[in-house]
Amino acid sequence: NTFAEIDLGDALNENIRRCKYVKPTPVQRHAIPISLGGRDLMACAQTGSGKTAAFCFPIISGIMRGPSGPRQRGSRTVYPLALILSPTRELSIQIHEEARKFAYQTGVRVVVAYGGAPINQQLRDLERGVEILVATPGRLVDLLERARVSLQHIRYLALDEADRMLDMGFEPQIRRIVEQMDMPPRGQRQTMLFSATFPKEIQRVEFVPESDKRSYLM
Ligand code: AMP
Repeated sequence: NTFAEIDLGDALNENIRRCKYVKPTPVQRHAIPISLGGRDLMACAQTGSGKTAAFCFPIISGIMRGPSGPRQRGSRTVYPLALILSPTRELSIQIHEEARKFAYQTGVRVVVAYGGAPINQQLRDLERGVEILVATPGRLVDLLERARVSLQHIRYLALDEADRMLDMGFEPQIRRIVEQMDMPPRGQRQTMLFSATFPKEIQRVEFVPESDKRSYLM
């Protein structure tokens, strides 16, 4: 019932202690074991519920324990292992800041890319290496078109505020993003979808393959 009892890896457990998180919030209590168990997840969670940690902890833990990604030579394309999609620049910045605290000294590098800001700094950040990419859908499509990011090694996909992304008209971009992830060699990928509301459009999303869909509603 406390984070100390959940083995997420020493470095991550230490960071959680440093953040003074002792007990998981309800969404964390339910989502973290499902994700650590390798299953897909859809969760209804509001801002302030602790959803950022709910998807960051299993991602960071899984990357720390899993094989490292491909080493890049002679190409400027980077291959993140996890993608966190969020609707806005503000939310992306917030997720990035939290994820960096959780990933401190784990060897897991977190980079953020959002629209409405010059791309050059983001390209430089990416070039230094990335395991977890936090991005808004439009900017990510731009990076894919420039061949600066490839999603072919993604093991974890988290969609934050999925309802808001659909409301904002990001469905075509998200579709393109998921298509890239499905191109061979498609390895095992885990999806975590978080949404404040659960309209039919969200329940039906094909971003989560039907066969993998494990709904969990709070
Ligand atoms: P979120 O819903 O992810 O935006 O988180 C809301 C706030 O709760 C953030 O300031 C988090 O740092 C904090 N928080 C998340 N999980 C916990 C926890 N288990 N214990 C204490 N604070 C938490």
